[in-house]
Order: sequence, then C-alpha cells, then structure tokens
Amino acid sequence: MWSSRLFWRLFLSYSALTVAAAVAFAVVFQGRQREAVEIEVQERLRDEAIVVQSLAEAAWESPDAPVEELRAVWQPKLEALGMQIGTRLTLIQADGTVLADSATDARLLENHRDRPEIQLAIETGVAFKHRSSQSIHEEFEYCAVRVGSKESPRGFVRIALPWTPFETRLKATARFVAGTTTIVTMLALLATYWMARRLVGPLETLTHAAQAIAAGDVSQEVRVPNRDEIGMLAAAFNTMSNELTRRWEQLQSNRRERDENSELMETVLGSMIEGVVVIDARQRILYANPAAGPLLDFPSFRATGRSLFEAARHPRVQKVVEEVLAGRVPERVEYEVPRTNAIVALIASPLPGEPPPGAVLVLHDVSHLRRLENLRREFVSNVSHELKTPLTTIQAYTETLIDGAVDDPNINRKFLERIDEQAERLHRLILDLLSLARIESAEEAYELMPITVAETVRVCIDEHQAVAASKGVSLIVEPPTEEIVVWADEEGLLTVLNNLVDNAIKYTASGGRVTVRWRPDERRAVIEVEDTGIGIPKQHQSRVFERFFRVDKARSRELGGTGLGLSIVKHWVQVFGGTVEVISELGRGTKFVIRVPRR
Ligand code: ADP
Repeated sequence: MWSSRLFWRLFLSYSALTVAAAVAFAVVFQGRQREAVEIEVQERLRDEAIVVQSLAEAAWESPDAPVEELRAVWQPKLEALGMQIGTRLTLIQADGTVLADSATDARLLENHRDRPEIQLAIETGVAFKHRSSQSIHEEFEYCAVRVGSKESPRGFVRIALPWTPFETRLKATARFVAGTTTIVTMLALLATYWMARRLVGPLETLTHAAQAIAAGDVSQEVRVPNRDEIGMLAAAFNTMSNELTRRWEQLQSNRRERDENSELMETVLGSMIEGVVVIDARQRILYANPAAGPLLDFPSFRATGRSLFEAARHPRVQKVVEEVLAGRVPERVEYEVPRTNAIVALIASPLPGEPPPGAVLVLHDVSHLRRLENLRREFVSNVSHELKTPLTTIQAYTETLIDGAVDDPNINRKFLERIDEQAERLHRLILDLLSLARIESAEEAYELMPITVAETVRVCIDEHQAVAASKGVSLIVEPPTEEIVVWADEEGLLTVLNNLVDNAIKYTASGGRVTVRWRPDERRAVIEVEDTGIGIPKQHQSRVFERFFRVDKARSRELGGTGLGLSIVKHWVQVFGGTVEVISELGRGTKFVIRVPRR
C-alpha cells in the first residue's frame, strides 16, 4: 500500500483539496463574520447618532453662544447619556473644536476637524471609520453625523463604540471555527485515506496477480469483497485466470506429450540403421537422422535447413525426389555413394497433400546385401567351374576308354589312374565344400571346450611328418614351457592346423622348414605356422582367405589344392572367437598367426 503511487496520488490530492476547502471556508467565514459584526455595529451607531443628533441640534441653535457656556451644559449631559447607552459621544463644532465628550473632558481634547470620519461626514453627512483613538489610544468604530448643510455645517455628532469586545467575540468565533474545521478536516482526511485504501487495495492485489501471471504463475485467484466495478473486474480477472490456467495446463500437457513423442521419435529415428530425411516442397532438409549422413554423404548434424542437393549431389536422388514432389508414384532407386562406394537403396514417399508439401526419403545401405549376392553368384560359378574341370576330364577319359582304349593295355591303366585322380580331386572338393557349409550353417551352435594345444599339434604333426620328410621339408615344433588350453572344437582346431601345415609343406621347396609354435598372450593363445617357402605377393595377402582364391591356380591344382583351405581356417577361427592373419614376404616365407581365447 505504502509503495502504491496511485494510493499516494489519490490520498494526497484529495487531502490537499480537503485542506484547501477547509482553510478557504474558515477564512471566508471569518471575513463574513467580521463584516456582519461591523454592519451590525455601524447600524447601531447610526441609529444612536441620529437620536443624539436631534438632541444636539439645540447646541447650535444660538451660533454665537460662547463655547464654555455650551460645554458647561453639554459635557455633563453627554457624560450621563454615554454612561447610559455605553457609547462614547462627542459633540464637535463646525471648526473642529470639541464641545463635549462623554469619555474625556472636552477642554483637554484637541481640534477634531482633521479626524477622518469628520472629514468624510462633511462630504457625505454620515460617515463611519474604524480606527484607533488618538486621544484615548483604544480601537473604536466611529460614526460621525453632520448637523447642518454641507456648505455651512453647524457641527458634528460623533458616536464611538470600543471595538475590543467585538474583537474578542470575533476571535472566540474564529477559534471555534478553526477547531471545528480542523476536526472536520481530520475526519475528512481519515475518510479519504479509507476510500483510497479501499480503491487501491484491490487494484494492488489485481496488479500483483497480473504480474505473477506475466511471470508465468498462471494459477492466480484474487479475493476482492467489493461489489462495485473493481469487484466485477476482480471476478472477470478470476474467470480469465481460471481459463488461462486451464489453457496453460492443456498447453503444458500437449507440449509434454509432443516432447515425449518427439523424444521417442528422435530415439527411434536416431537408433535406426536406415537413413531418414524429410524435405519440404522446395527440397530443403527439415530433418535428417544420424544414419542419413553417410548414406547421402553429408554431415547430418549440419544438414537441417540446407537444400538436399547442396548436401547430396547424386543425379538419381535428384530425379526420384523431383518425381515424387511432382506427385508421381513413390519409386525405389539404388545408387552408389562415390566416396565410400556404398550401395544405397532409396525410397521416396510424398507427404500427404496436393501438391505434396514435402517428401520422406528412406535410405538403406544394401552394399552388404549386394556383396553377398555377388559372392553367392561368384561362389556358384566357382563351384560349377571347379566341379566341371575334373568331371570333363573324367568324361573325356571314360569316352576314350569306351571308344576302344579299354582294350589297349598300354594306356587303359594310365587312363583309369587319371580318372581316379580326378575323382579324388572331386572328393576333396566336395569334402571341403561340405565342411565349409557345415561351419557356416552351425556357426552359433558349436559347443566349445577346453583343448590342449600341444595335443592337437602332436596329432597334426604325426599326420604330416611323412609327407614333409618325403618332400625334404623339416617339420619343427616349438612348444612353450607351460601348457596352453584354448576354448575350441577339437576337430575344428585340428582342421585349422592341418590346413595351415599342409599349405606350408605344399608351398615350401625341398630343404625348407616348417615351424609350428604357440605361446600365451594375455587372455589369448597365439599359434603360429611359419614356413620358408615361396611366400605370397603383398597385393594377394588380403584375399587368400577368400573361397577359391589361389595365387597360382595351376600350381595349386597340381598340388591338389581346392582353394578352400584358408577359407575353412578363417571360418573355424571365427567360430572360436579368434583372429587369423598372414605375414608373408615373397620368396622368403609365410607366417600364419592365429589368436584364440584361452581358458
Ligand atoms: P589351396 O587349396 O589352393 O592351397 P588355400 O585356400 O589353402 O587353397 O590357399 C589359398 C592360396 O593361398 C593358395 O592357392 C596359395 O596360393 C596361397 N597360400 C596358402 N598358404 C600358403 C603358403 N604357406 N605359402 C605360400 N602361399 C600360400
């Protein structure tokens, strides 16, 4: 309240008005009072003067009578009369000589010709003057009446009433008026205060409530008991506030719902592998999820707001987007991202509306799928080719035998041996293919168990010792001091070692060495099969684990290779949860390093 400017403006202006009115009233009232008293006194004086005038006319009947004589007559008369009527009576000669005076001895009085009331009376006949007496130094209201005509006055009657009693009365009245006015003013000020408070209080409450609403606290209710316009304003304010609260809550709940939805949407879209891009009719990107970036080859976090083709300049994308925005049926295209060589499938669908206000692009990396398809196609063709070669050979020899060679003892045996060789090759090929297919189809189902590496290596070495010796290759085993047990499949680990040792012997010339060693490495076991053979050219090293890949096809075939050995190795190692790598130098030797988890 005390800080309310409106309150102070109202209170101070009404208070100033009240005080001004009270002061004006007191001043005017007092003035009127004084005037009324003066008029009353003057009327009384005039009446008395007229009476005395008729009496005093006798004093000037004989104009030549000596002054002293007249004084002797009139002085006592006036004294008696003055006493009776309580006024001061003075008879003054036309020349100003005081003939008699009821208050003082006339002989002592100076000439009164220059007294203002006498001067006035010469002119007007009757004159009043309020002044202090020069003779007795007291304030009087004087009334002078001329006796005789203006041109030749015979004398003057002057009547005076002492002013002091009237002044006292006036002062008492003034005090009373001032007191009453002060009390009334105080009451009026109190009333003003109360009124201003009553007016400003509810307004202040309303202001605070409105400020609180403006600051965001919408649940404001004001209590104003007034039944006037302010009360109505407060009621309207409460209705408004309730409505505002209702709308605010609705808005909040909508927003919460929207936030939750968009958060959910963001999470879903953010965790998708597929890229999702939303564009408007002007092909401006409205949204792009993180996966969309690499698929369109643009940074998705900075893509929003940019033109789609500023971000991704693929002509196929451009074409399909233009067609969809033109209202044609959604289409699916595939394109290759130039930088990463990824193959991306894009489906563009228009947003609902005519014409479409935008489109949603869904992008899917199908490189893996395409690569698998290619691999499968390649594999089928490779398998067919690998099977065809021995079969064609078998067929050719069989036909030659049927055509008569069977009876030629010089060649029939040789032909049959060739057929056997090719059948053996077919057999190996089919065994390898079956083995590969088995590992691939049951990758998850293998139950790994602890296998002692030394034991498996021993079996492998036993199997290859004879071949190595016949080829003039020394087979060396370098076991560690401690026993190493790995998590693996017994048959699988043996196959891995067999294939590696087999290759090592195959591709190492006589006099060379093949070394098998193993050691622990943190939580893994490292098994190495190293040879001093022909080595693998650098550019082929990454491909040797591919199916049917052979550095030198003819040589491999000659040595009875199928091109599947290392592929089988890689699959088994993956089943064990390990890795395989090749380190090789052309002409100096090759080392295959396998890392598998230890028990
Ligand atoms: P293959 O049955 O032909 O040996 P693999 O899958 O076992 O098929 O090996 C693939 C190719 O990798 C071989 O044809 C050969 O060219 C090369 N290779 C494998 N092991 C060695 C090795 N120890 N030394 C040199 N070349 C090797």
